Amino acid sequence: NYVLGKKDFIKIITALAAVVEEKRDYLSDLDSPIGDGDHGFNLSIGFREVMKNLSLWEQESLAIIWEKIGMAILGKVGGSAGPLYGSFFLKFGEVAQGKEIITFNDFYAMFSAGIAAIEMRGKAVVGEKTMVDALRPGIDAFADAMEKQIEPLSAFSAFVEAADRGAKATIPIIAKKGRAMRLGERAIGHIDPGAVSATLFLQTIYKILLE
Ligand code: ADP
Ligand code: MG
Ligand code: MG
Repeated sequence: NYVLGKKDFIKIITALAAVVEEKRDYLSDLDSPIGDGDHGFNLSIGFREVMKNLSLWEQESLAIIWEKIGMAILGKVGGSAGPLYGSFFLKFGEVAQGKEIITFNDFYAMFSAGIAAIEMRGKAVVGEKTMVDALRPGIDAFADAMEKQIEPLSAFSAFVEAADRGAKATIPIIAKKGRAMRLGERAIGHIDPGAVSATLFLQTIYKILLE
């Protein structure tokens, strides 16, 4: 009976914005050899827009808050990751519609729907060197843990661990989606920046859950 309320979600989005600032240059540097070097900057533009408006949105319902976050990221961030993360947050909030108390099952369902939205929008599958390589095995491990009724924090930890392994598995492969695709074999040896940012987001949320 682990539950989350609006305060927890405000904490989460604030922590995500902070980690984006902290890792902005690092994420852009990861994007340099196999992309155009802007991944961290793109995320920073989006999350700065969110933080600029968050206090205005705080009175709204959880679903509306996440919708506004998704729309801000979709609207402000160019490139691939902006629309993908934007769609994630839109769907993430949709699952919370009509609820202000989020059970851990709801929380799982929010991630599951959000990740499905990323897959739908980007049409990537595992093994194509994208953020899906972190998120899909992550959410599958989360689903498995929920099914086995493993306690919430361990279930989320399984999510994060599987995502981290998935992100690392992007290193030795070529890309079949995104900018890195054009590099062919030259993409080998570089981790996918979107898989890294996705894993960082999950690690950050896990830390909040542990508080
Ligand atoms: P851009 O490539 O347009 O400059 P970013 O640098 O912000 O955008 O984001 C790049 C990341 O987006 C990649 O590292 C990859 O994880 C992700 N990405 C690109 N295309 C797709 C896709 N079709 N599906 C899922 N993720 C994708
Ligand atoms: Mg880029
Ligand atoms: Mg770009």
